[in-house]
Amino acid sequence: MNTLRIAGGQVLRPDATVEDADVLVDRDEGTILDIGADLDADADETLDAEGCLVTPGLVNAHCHVAMTLLRGYADDKPLDAWLREDIWPAEAALTPEDVRVGAELGLVEMIKSGTTAFADMYFHVPEVAAAVDEAGLRARLGHGVVTLGKDDEDARADIDESLDVAREFDGAADGRIRTAAMPHSLTTVAEDFLREFVADAHAEDIPVHYHANETTDEVDPIVDERGERPLSYAKELGMLTADDFLAHGVHVDDAEIDLLADAGTGVVHCPASNMKLASGMAPVQKLLDAGVTVGLGTDGAASNNDLDMFDEMRDAAMLGKLAADDASAVAAGDVVRMATAGSADAIDLPGGALEVGGAADLAVVDLDAPHLTPANDLVSHLAYAARGSDVRHTVCDGRVLMRDREVLTLDEDAVMARAGEAVASLRERV
Ligand SMILES: [Zn+2]
Repeated sequence: MNTLRIAGGQVLRPDATVEDADVLVDRDEGTILDIGADLDADADETLDAEGCLVTPGLVNAHCHVAMTLLRGYADDKPLDAWLREDIWPAEAALTPEDVRVGAELGLVEMIKSGTTAFADMYFHVPEVAAAVDEAGLRARLGHGVVTLGKDDEDARADIDESLDVAREFDGAADGRIRTAAMPHSLTTVAEDFLREFVADAHAEDIPVHYHANETTDEVDPIVDERGERPLSYAKELGMLTADDFLAHGVHVDDAEIDLLADAGTGVVHCPASNMKLASGMAPVQKLLDAGVTVGLGTDGAASNNDLDMFDEMRDAAMLGKLAADDASAVAAGDVVRMATAGSADAIDLPGGALEVGGAADLAVVDLDAPHLTPANDLVSHLAYAARGSDVRHTVCDGRVLMRDREVLTLDEDAVMARAGEAVASLRERV
């Protein structure tokens, strides 16, 4: 057996307690063999975790990873105008090679900030999958479908591509890649297409991931036209099952929260994106109180503008309190859970907890910094004070992806240089 030992640190356990312990990993199986004091000193490889907190790898449950190329491309506009005037025209010009380098840039950023798994909706998905394979993370990938403004033939081709991609890449990268069918939203895919798309996906046990109730502009037209709330419509379309998960859920009423809780559908909260696009405040404490599975996501880098899940935890805690008008709402332990086990549950990937037999997906956070001193409460520090740049080592599926801040699976400098070249060329074309 080939083993990896993470030695000399403190370990965050699933019950949110912290203990002095080593973590021993079976690298062949990608699982945790043991957590405890003074574990096998003869391990094949050892990562020094002295002065560090070993946490589950963070799980970014909603992203458009290749949008790193559009970071800072267009800011400070409302969602609808931002998409139509800036983002969609630029995305129409992206080549498969652009998506590959954009994905690699995002994956480097994720590894460097302790993220080991993510869910991603985009296009040119084979390029994203190749980047994930190389980078060593886990992902649930899918091709996003918009039928608005397309004729029947183009709309069907888009749906077929989403289903084909979901079939072809499920289980890729030694099982680290899973897939989903991804209609963009309830308002950008027409009802007939949506109904057929969802039925076809579920007939093959392919889960469905979509944006829902992000802005009032996504809610009001459905209420006006159908006389029902969006998630009631989603339920009727069959896309509110325990396997499905939706991003945002900002404007959900109490009845919709009950629908989500009853169905077991995961909600991915994206606080930075919601604040930047002034979309609104998701009722996160209400969702948690109702027993809804809530994960955390960055959304794309163009509306965030980074993929740092530590930022996202702090934003979620702050915004959740503001939304609830209650400083005790969305507490530190809640956001840490949302960024780990909550996200892993929502997108149904391994990881999210450090336990024997579980996936060896973890981040080692260096606590030796002024902003993390004194060590009054390490869960509080993760939620409120730590940054992605505090992560020292990142491990996914038992493989070391970053050691002492050096990314081992991708060439960080080369990826950044290629991303700069890709965007210079994109700006000339658009
Ligand atoms: Zn999104």
